[in-house]
Amino acid sequence: MRLRHLAPLAILLLPGCRETADTLDEAAEVVVEGGVERLREPIRAPVGPPRVLVFALDGVGEGALREALEAGALPTLGSLLGAGRDSTTWAHGVSVGPILSVLPSITVAAWTSLFTGRPPGETGVPGNEWFSRSDGEFHAPAPVSVTGKSDALATLSDQLMDSLVAVPTLFERADVRSYVSLLPVHRGADLLAVPGAAELADLLGAFPAGAVGEEPVKRQVYAAVDRASAERMADLVEEEGPPDLGVVYFPGIDLYTHAAPSPLAEQRRYLAEVTDAAMAEVLAAYRAAGALDGTWVLVTADHGHTPVPHDATHALGGDSAFSVAATLDSAGFPVRPPSLDAGSAGYRAVMAWQGAFAYVSLADRSSCPDEDDPCDWTAPPRWDEDVLPAARALDRAAAAHPTQPLDLVLLRRPGAGGEGSELLVLRDDRPVPLDAYLADTPRPELLDFAERMRWLTDGPHGDHAGDVILMTRLGASVPENDRYYFSHPYHSWHASAEARDSHAPLVIARPDLTAAEIRGRLGSWPERPTQLDFTPLVLQLLDGR
Ligand SMILES: [Zn+2]
Repeated sequence: MRLRHLAPLAILLLPGCRETADTLDEAAEVVVEGGVERLREPIRAPVGPPRVLVFALDGVGEGALREALEAGALPTLGSLLGAGRDSTTWAHGVSVGPILSVLPSITVAAWTSLFTGRPPGETGVPGNEWFSRSDGEFHAPAPVSVTGKSDALATLSDQLMDSLVAVPTLFERADVRSYVSLLPVHRGADLLAVPGAAELADLLGAFPAGAVGEEPVKRQVYAAVDRASAERMADLVEEEGPPDLGVVYFPGIDLYTHAAPSPLAEQRRYLAEVTDAAMAEVLAAYRAAGALDGTWVLVTADHGHTPVPHDATHALGGDSAFSVAATLDSAGFPVRPPSLDAGSAGYRAVMAWQGAFAYVSLADRSSCPDEDDPCDWTAPPRWDEDVLPAARALDRAAAAHPTQPLDLVLLRRPGAGGEGSELLVLRDDRPVPLDAYLADTPRPELLDFAERMRWLTDGPHGDHAGDVILMTRLGASVPENDRYYFSHPYHSWHASAEARDSHAPLVIARPDLTAAEIRGRLGSWPERPTQLDFTPLVLQLLDGR
């Protein structure tokens, strides 16, 4: 087995991951080599300058990056940008964010949309995990609900994202020499960097089996992944020459923020003590190659973070008193076990967890009248007999629960002939069109909510978001002790439609240009940019030669 993409390795480090000792032993066998995968042979000849170098910081919201820059906690990025003129303008750089994330504001969906320029309903990647009706498969490139070593190893050893992203990637569209360090969305790049045995040995040694709850979080475990990502890119630049398009992915900072008590303060420290030095190593390699001039340096992220209570009451995935699975089961929808190999029979509903959201896919129960029948998942569920009863059962159970864990129960109703889909909200047991609900009940804290939900549920793969979409109360507008999320317990989560989760940074530096020149080259950059604008921007910057 060969390791083809690393992000799932990081999943092994999540404190919610079970069976860790065995899993890591086997993972060690998988990841013996690390180093570099050559995805094309021969690799493309470089054509730049201009070049583009992207620092992809997982889980660093726009506010978090801005505060770190203002506090002088990112001296490497600060010196690249030069003297500050105002909060968005430096001598050699500009901030053109915040850019609005897709919904849910969650890792795999957001990076896929960032590096394709298309919304989740078209990319086919609506979250960290999802059920696909067309093939009856549960896909979990970054598992949240599914656990167990076979799942983790399956994601380690398979080129999952290569086959799951349904639209062209930035690397395929740019068609220039591209190096990618660790980012799972890399189809079409020339070289892919993965971690080596030394870093892995550190990870394995530092990771206590089943480190959940009160175990102190070992920051070096996560930092080693980010440092390795930077080292590998620096090595590639030195050995192969600078690429036209380079992407350095830092997954460790997000995983650490999930797991650390005082998550936002710890993230600030991590930026200053780990991320800045990692960026410095890559930039030094570009400088040594004489390639810093002519290189656009972009810093962006997939989402931010919102602190949550670390307990089984607020973590709706574990032993919470409010159980989606138990509610569905008593309503006549036994739920698929949380495993990649759950077989095809015995269930009428499939759950996928996304932090602030959960997707529930429902069977047309007339296709499987006997308990042991496998259902025909290629057909949509019936509205009156399947979708409405399941949604009402969930809404009633959540409303009756003293903690009020859910904010909205949304229903996706496919259009005739598979065209478009209607989104509705359950109010007093009745489905109300989402637009009518929002007109009646303004929700300004849910940024561009209707449009971003349509990005998720419209398009050829809108069904990947399920038939009933549950949204928890999560976001800075909700008191911290009233925030709920679908996963095992963590200290911080995201995926909500609120600004803290949904505002990603986009800082652009170009050491040989002034801020005014940089803004001039951006062309008609939208006033309210989104993650869908990122790929077109990179293509435009690469084109300016
Ligand atoms: Zn993320």
